[in-house]
Amino acid sequence: MEILRGQGVSGGVARGPLWFYGHSRERAQARRGCDPARERERLEKARRQAALALEELARRARERAGEEGGALFETHALLLEDEDFIGAMDRLAGEGYSAEYAAEQAGEELAALLEAMEDPYMRERCADVRDVAGRLRDLLAGAGEEALPEGPVVLCAQDLAPSQTLRLDRDKILAIATRGGSGSSHTAILARAMGIPAVCGLGEGLCQTLQGREAWVLGEEGQVILDAAGEQLERLKARLEEQTRRRELLRELAGREDVTLDGRRLSICCNIGAPEEVEAVLSSGGGGIGLFRSEFLYLASRDWPTEEEQYEAYRKVAQAMGGRRVVVRTLDIGADKGVDYFPLAREENPALGLRGVRVSLSRPEVFRTQLRALYRASAWGKIAIMFPMIASLWEVEECRRLCGQVMDQLEEEGVPFNRETEVGIMMETPAAVLMAPELAQKADFFSVGTNDLTQYTLACDRQNSGLGRFFDPRHPAVLRSVELAARAAHEAGIWIGICGELGADPELLPAFLDMGIHEVSVSPPAVLPLRAALRKIGADGRAQEGEKRQKRRRQAPFFGIICF
Ligand code: PEP
Ligand code: MG
Repeated sequence: MEILRGQGVSGGVARGPLWFYGHSRERAQARRGCDPARERERLEKARRQAALALEELARRARERAGEEGGALFETHALLLEDEDFIGAMDRLAGEGYSAEYAAEQAGEELAALLEAMEDPYMRERCADVRDVAGRLRDLLAGAGEEALPEGPVVLCAQDLAPSQTLRLDRDKILAIATRGGSGSSHTAILARAMGIPAVCGLGEGLCQTLQGREAWVLGEEGQVILDAAGEQLERLKARLEEQTRRRELLRELAGREDVTLDGRRLSICCNIGAPEEVEAVLSSGGGGIGLFRSEFLYLASRDWPTEEEQYEAYRKVAQAMGGRRVVVRTLDIGADKGVDYFPLAREENPALGLRGVRVSLSRPEVFRTQLRALYRASAWGKIAIMFPMIASLWEVEECRRLCGQVMDQLEEEGVPFNRETEVGIMMETPAAVLMAPELAQKADFFSVGTNDLTQYTLACDRQNSGLGRFFDPRHPAVLRSVELAARAAHEAGIWIGICGELGADPELLPAFLDMGIHEVSVSPPAVLPLRAALRKIGADGRAQEGEKRQKRRRQAPFFGIICF
């Protein structure tokens, strides 16, 4: 038996033949003596063709892998317009190289620059650059798409380009194994979104000579096992059977109630970033939308999206959800999410800078446009409006004042809307948690953004993958903050949800129930596993554990649930 070790980036077990993608592609020859004018013209034509193809890929990616997948190909389209990339191609064509070589070599030069960067996220972008350059080269060479496998396979590659992953039929990919890449590579992101086990960083051991060999891929352990035999083989078979059984069980859970064995309810809703993702919410059985990250509408646009464009997007979602609540978070750009048409001044600490509601309150005309679109959409379903990055009472007061103005204006214009539309705030700064009792007087609901709450409570940059275990969303300080916010919500009689990643942690469900959290909002694939975990609570002793906690909570007036 042989074991190749890498980094598990998408969970699950799979068994199948190894199939190397991209092995038949020839590298472009460094051929000189071409006519620069002609090669430049060919490059320009290929660039236009590639842009059209990427538009189509972005559409398909949205359907199959959600907003994140779509945004990925939009980034590729932007690369086609990158001045350094274009400049390098132009220079090489000017030196008499063929357009094919110019495209590939320009991609290699840009990838080498990225590879030398300290930021691991930027290093990971090499695969994207090579993907775009390879696309241009293949278009120029008139190469058709790579032949696809006949049956289901374990897809292997150096570092699979995202467009390759997407071209393959989901049913034909049992798992993904790559020599390079890591957890933040786009292949990993797509694999997780599509629910395919994946292992990256397997190194040279994953060589072409293994083509066709039967292998096991263990997504959790980050292993590829060849020639499993004897007891090991039996264990792997049992795991695969267990996985199949679990998946079937999960399918049976669709449409069931979100309730514990002892009758406690917790609504399991979904986070989305685009109207197209509503399909996934409906098929996963999500009870509503707890977080619609509206900034994706802004990120996908070349200019501020108009009131009409936004209204259409919100209306579509509200209508499709048929009366179930849709919490739309107002624009949350700044920090890691920037748009070209709103250039922010260089900030020393962007995460502490002009972001979230601070942008909206600094640009009231932009904010009003969004609020008008949201209130108009409120006539079509159960829209709720939520403000991100709240730290002070006056921010909420000002937001509500603007809401009031917008409603009065719509009324004057005779435009239908719902005056009872709920207005809530995100609990994602320590200041908001400490001010929760006062804030609860001004809001109809709270939603805890544990991603930022962890970042700001622990003073740990969420973008910095090097911080590893220091970034701990389960840290008692974070859990206490959730509890404090829940208490304030209960005392004021408003509802409270969790829309950060921590909401998807099944082990914390009993604690959240004890705190009186009403809703968790998670990615659509997480709904059914969470429902399964919720519906078991009460049978395995955890309910008893919950009672003990309740007792401790009554005895301790503060921090009653998170005891140490
Ligand atoms: C959060 O901070 O937990 C959250 C849900 O918002 P985002 O991840 O979009 O910042
Ligand atoms: Mg946040």
